[in-house]
Amino acid sequence: MYDINRIREDFPILGREVYGKPLVYLDNGATTQKPRCVVESIADEYYSVNANVHRGVHFLSQQATNLHEASRETVRRFINARSISEIVFTRGTTESINLVASTFADSQMKEGDEVIVSVMEHHSNIVSWQLQAARKGIRLRVIPMNDWGELLMDEYERLFSPKTKLVSVAHVSNVLGTINPVERIIEIAHAHGVPVLIDGAQSIPHLKVDVQALDADFYVFSGHKVYGPTGIGVLYGKESWLDKLPPYQGGGEMIQSVSFEKTTFNELPFKFEAGTPDYIGSTALAKALDYVSALGMDSIAAYEHELTVYAMQRMKEIPGMRIFGEAEHKGGVISFLVGDIHHFDMGTLLDRLGIAVRTGHHCAEPLMRRLGIEGTVRASLGLYTTKAEIDVLVAGIERVRKMFG
Ligand code: PLP
Repeated sequence: MYDINRIREDFPILGREVYGKPLVYLDNGATTQKPRCVVESIADEYYSVNANVHRGVHFLSQQATNLHEASRETVRRFINARSISEIVFTRGTTESINLVASTFADSQMKEGDEVIVSVMEHHSNIVSWQLQAARKGIRLRVIPMNDWGELLMDEYERLFSPKTKLVSVAHVSNVLGTINPVERIIEIAHAHGVPVLIDGAQSIPHLKVDVQALDADFYVFSGHKVYGPTGIGVLYGKESWLDKLPPYQGGGEMIQSVSFEKTTFNELPFKFEAGTPDYIGSTALAKALDYVSALGMDSIAAYEHELTVYAMQRMKEIPGMRIFGEAEHKGGVISFLVGDIHHFDMGTLLDRLGIAVRTGHHCAEPLMRRLGIEGTVRASLGLYTTKAEIDVLVAGIERVRKMFG
């Protein structure tokens, strides 16, 4: 049973007030709150285990290493990767994409080659490629969308040419909530012999992800968006691809042997993990993944789907409401504007009512341009969001709307 009251008790911050009002936290797309087990894991490991991993013979170092490597196995299991060699710890989605963009462009692309992205990408899945475009003379091709916020799959197929070397798209849009048909996107790319990177920043907290079933070549996500700590994330890559890519950064741990004449590199996944890893963070991330797994990703998805349907229906009752993103398959991200009220004014006034939403372009300026707007207000739901909180949001929006006449 999905006992929402019981679940909320695991997140102490949800009980606090802001401006004397109960907090209504609807900014889960930006980051999620942490259950007690995640926060306690961080304190416990610092208090009782802390030692640098991998290089120590002493007891604590071995214990810390065991925890860190057990966390890698937890991540592997969570996304059903074949092997722990395919799980690289990074700082987050952004670093994971940059790692692939840099090493893939260096080793697999030449001037004139192309990467396909979509119009609804987060800046991290645009700018990472643009940096390589400037350096290597590669080009970005962009999958367009319809007015509901769904990618145009026919147009997508037409973008392929012998110059296409990679497709890189979001599983779920952080602005529109669209759940993209990544199975089909991957299938089409593979039919052209092209690998695919899926940006899972907004899907991992909400959907069950099986990288083998998807046949994704790369899948990336951030710990902090899936109820884990900040500063840690994951790059999943098929071993066959990771083997082909050169190291991203140089330093300790990623080497096998070093001399001034020649350095050889460590095996996967360590080849991509230069320097001291965030071993405290990896343990806490594993706790977060265990936490959501215990609730059941399917149960979370079903609960959030019901909540999204309810929220969409309630929001549409508000006069002057414009919702951006009405895809048939949509997650709990609701971007909106009301009448001609500026998104910043709406966000600021909602904040005074204790409601935390995000305003602005949401790191997706090209998408804003496509929509013909500068920004939106975004309410994003989490596994602990309640219908009562949606009601508070709707009442808050109504109040602001009436203030503006
Ligand atoms: N991709 C998407 C779709 C996102 O929503 C975000 C963050 O909002 C990112 C990438 C970047 O994630 P991070 O800042 O954790 O690296």
